[in-house]
Amino acid sequence: MSRKPIIAGNWKMNLCRSEAKALFEGISSFLSNYTAPQLPTVVIAPVFTSLCQVHSIDCSCGCEGKKLSVAGQNCHWEKSGAFTGEISCEMLKDAGCDYVIIGHSERRQYFSETDEMINKKAKAILANGMIPIICCGESLEQREAGSTDAWVSSQIRAALDGLSSEEVAKSVIAYEPIWAIGTGKSCDADEANRVCKMIRNVVSECAGSSASDSIRILYGGSVKPSTIEEQMSKSDIDGALIGGASLKADSFNEIIEKTMKVCV
Ligand code: PEP
Repeated sequence: MSRKPIIAGNWKMNLCRSEAKALFEGISSFLSNYTAPQLPTVVIAPVFTSLCQVHSIDCSCGCEGKKLSVAGQNCHWEKSGAFTGEISCEMLKDAGCDYVIIGHSERRQYFSETDEMINKKAKAILANGMIPIICCGESLEQREAGSTDAWVSSQIRAALDGLSSEEVAKSVIAYEPIWAIGTGKSCDADEANRVCKMIRNVVSECAGSSASDSIRILYGGSVKPSTIEEQMSKSDIDGALIGGASLKADSFNEIIEKTMKVCV
């Protein structure tokens, strides 16, 4: 089963509009050297105020697919209403998003997002014609206690609860060990692959083998140009969710270029 790799940049709470525009231009000018089928799926997730400034790049009347897609970093599951500070899936779609990141460990930790909320978000994203990028991952304490697999599999089962096999098949999961995010310390590629494979088995139990063959599972946590080739060479790692190294066009573009060398 060949799955098109995804390289996704999570800009987090960084870059004002002029800076976001400059970074977007640096990435899009690099992408202009390639056709869409040569590229991995490239996704960028800017802050909400920059969503209308960056945009997806659709080429050849859409017949070749998109060269660049835009993602929201969060969403609410309700359509509209009295939810101060939130943004709906319909609004993200209207702003040009194809993907939405949900369940990032920073949202779970600082904004008390629960598995139940993440499941509601996943359903709302899919109902609005977008694709959820569902983050999961263990803390250092959980890893040291040997509970990584139990913890991550419970996050995945909860996130996918009630989704059809077709919905699961088009979703994306990002395995991001919390201790590797923003620390410069990437998870060993074989170990990251082992956990991604374990996640794929859980997906198969929840939604069947066709969904588990199709779903794309990314690794995230201090991915850099120097780590991506080894990570992308592994059987069950279908791409990367990148924080720090996505904030500079040079490093993000180098990650895309190296991904193409290994697997497109
Ligand atoms: C992230 O925030 O999703 C992430 C993986 O960050 P970094 O690449 O900086 O570790």
